[in-house]
Amino acid sequence: MRRHHDPCMHPDPRAILDQLREGHQRFLDGHLLHPHSDRSRMLEVETGQHPVAAILGCADSRVPVELLFDTGFGDLFVVRNAGTMSTVAAIASLEYAVSHLQVSVIVVLGHAACGAISAAFDRSLTLTPSLAQVVGQLRMELFSLGAEEDLEQACRHHVLNAARNLVDSSVMLTDRLRSGRLQVEAAYYNLHTTSIEWMGALMPMPQA
Ligand SMILES: [Zn+2]
Repeated sequence: MRRHHDPCMHPDPRAILDQLREGHQRFLDGHLLHPHSDRSRMLEVETGQHPVAAILGCADSRVPVELLFDTGFGDLFVVRNAGTMSTVAAIASLEYAVSHLQVSVIVVLGHAACGAISAAFDRSLTLTPSLAQVVGQLRMELFSLGAEEDLEQACRHHVLNAARNLVDSSVMLTDRLRSGRLQVEAAYYNLHTTSIEWMGALMPMPQA
């Protein structure tokens, strides 16, 4: 991956997305380069990180973000939790990436057959209080979206919703999006085809 060491520089989001697409294409083609994956690279970034993009993804073990984009140490700032949720901790982490690490691209990467979303469909599950909170939030979201019957449809809706919630919950991210210094892309990983479908860039909400 090309580097952007100048902290004052705001790299072109399109070029960064092209890098991510190229890395994912190498994964699909079976031509992984595993860049930046050895100890020397780790020592190179020991004193500071300059990731090219930030990702909000699911904790699911089948969605290892660095491998899907063929990246290594210091390339991606990755936030993962069960269900790709825009939690306070996730929003704070991504605000840090944007404001302190000059990241100009956030990819919200959902996926098919998400366990957290399928749990939202199953009312018979016994859940811990913490899990009940997450699953309850997903149930409300799916109800309001009218996506309560089809898991595939629900997973897709949720990616877009998580991206929207992320930006709408943060004044800083909203400002960056409006001023064109930040691009937020929704994407959907299909476990069967193993490919990532790009769902488009989030548009800023009109100012009130
Ligand atoms: Zn998941």
